[in-house]
Amino acid sequence: MAKETNKIGKFHFDINIPAEVLPAIKKVLLPLDWMLPGWAQHCFIHYCIDDEDGHTASADVSYEYRFIHVNLYPQWLTLDEEYRIETLVHELIHSMTMILFSYTEQTVQALTKDQELLKEAILEEMKNRHESMTQDLTWVIRGLMKQHG
Ligand SMILES: [Zn+2]
Repeated sequence: MAKETNKIGKFHFDINIPAEVLPAIKKVLLPLDWMLPGWAQHCFIHYCIDDEDGHTASADVSYEYRFIHVNLYPQWLTLDEEYRIETLVHELIHSMTMILFSYTEQTVQALTKDQELLKEAILEEMKNRHESMTQDLTWVIRGLMKQHG
């Protein structure tokens, strides 16, 4: 059974998001609806208070079932508005790049299953390059957003 949410367009805001936090999330996220990939039918938004690693946000995708989960953490609220936007642009770009990354990761896992050191080296470099590419795209998109309002 689907979890109860407040739905606005393709965004589904978890009903457990604290009332004092929800407006801050909506303010930043709703204007980014144009960034949802064409295949995504639903984008579920969660607020996770039990993060001890200092994350600001993360994203998971289910390409097969056409939905995205975006998780926000209390650390995100400590950011100023520019970094709140940048963080969510970054996560929405992940919703596009993750499809290729996940496929490649699974392929490397399968092809190197008996070569632990090689697998670790390739996957570590892939993760670093994936993050770097996502952040570079984030800055390009933010730059274009600022130029065009
Ligand atoms: Zn990232």
